[in-house]
Amino acid sequence: MSDPLRFNPRVATIPFKRVGILGGGQLGRMLALAAHPLGIQCRFLDPAPDAPAGDVGELIVGEFDDPTALDRFAHGLDAATFEFENVPVAAVEQVARTVTVSPSALALSVGQDRAREKALFQELGIGVPRYRLAATLEEYGRAAAEVGAPCVAKTRRMGYDGKGQHVLRSIAEADHAWRALGGAPAIFEAFVDFSFEFSVIGVRGVKGEIRTYAPIRNVHQGGILRTSTVPAPGLPQALGDAARVHVAAIMERLNYVGVLAVEFFAADGTLLANEMAPRVHNSGHWTIEGAVTSQFENHIRAVCGLPLGDTSSRGTSVMHNIVGDPLNAAVRLADPRAKLHWYGKEPRPGRKVGHVTIVTEGPTG
Ligand code: AMP
Repeated sequence: MSDPLRFNPRVATIPFKRVGILGGGQLGRMLALAAHPLGIQCRFLDPAPDAPAGDVGELIVGEFDDPTALDRFAHGLDAATFEFENVPVAAVEQVARTVTVSPSALALSVGQDRAREKALFQELGIGVPRYRLAATLEEYGRAAAEVGAPCVAKTRRMGYDGKGQHVLRSIAEADHAWRALGGAPAIFEAFVDFSFEFSVIGVRGVKGEIRTYAPIRNVHQGGILRTSTVPAPGLPQALGDAARVHVAAIMERLNYVGVLAVEFFAADGTLLANEMAPRVHNSGHWTIEGAVTSQFENHIRAVCGLPLGDTSSRGTSVMHNIVGDPLNAAVRLADPRAKLHWYGKEPRPGRKVGHVTIVTEGPTG
């Protein structure tokens, strides 16, 4: 660690002034809040006029498949990225004709398809649950029989927060799965009797430098993340280290620039990769208070070609998502250590409207 007293404040002028972000949800909002102290403004494209990021940056209201809106968005940007992994690859490709978009359209397209993610993990020697692909009713039946019950059928594309999934208790339920998923191309995965779930967030810069954050233990309910804890309780050091190496390998393989999150299951003392998100991730929100440099700041640094910041933890962090629950802020803040992040969204059942992080055992004074 360099001596802070020897820090040279004469930083060069940052040539990046305006970063475009496809998607204007809470992730975009937190990216803009992290960019601001660096002298970087964010512009968003989102179909919703009340998108949460609109409070903290210029919001262009438009569809992701509207070429005119995409051109207005891209005009005059110094760099671009996305905060929503279901943004069409074609939108990224169009913007990339005007300004560099990081991560690349390739990384986005892999992250949008559970089958390509799994193939990439396997290519890199990363364990995955047993799985089969299926696109017709007959293939659904065959995939269920080959994977065995219980198993989970997931749409290959456009799934998030447990949506587009159906658990099969017996292989005879393949036709239920077919109806539940609307006959979409699917992946059937063995149901993993995991001890717990964890994730690793990494960041790669334009020159190929890589940093990873401490592994995070995650608890989901109904497919939605509820809490994230760091250091991950019960995660053996060797397993966490292996996961960090895997995340670095994925980023190398994709020539990735920006923040990448990979979710894992810990089962029987080994790890299995579940999925990756080519963007900042809910399980990394603790880094705002709990790490020297947040995932949001590091993503902005990476897409702007700036040096990456230190990813070390400051102590023990616990992040609680506030899901669909209009409990007032005063209650959330009753614990003086609580740091509240309210996204400015209308509370609805199952909707993430904010989060609270508590960091302990950090430096005192
Ligand atoms: P996903 O959208 O793939 O992240 O799935 C959402 C949640 O469903 C995960 O965080 C797990 O809690 C659960 N889940 C997904 N896949 C499996 C699996 N193969 N076995 C057991 N639980 C799973």
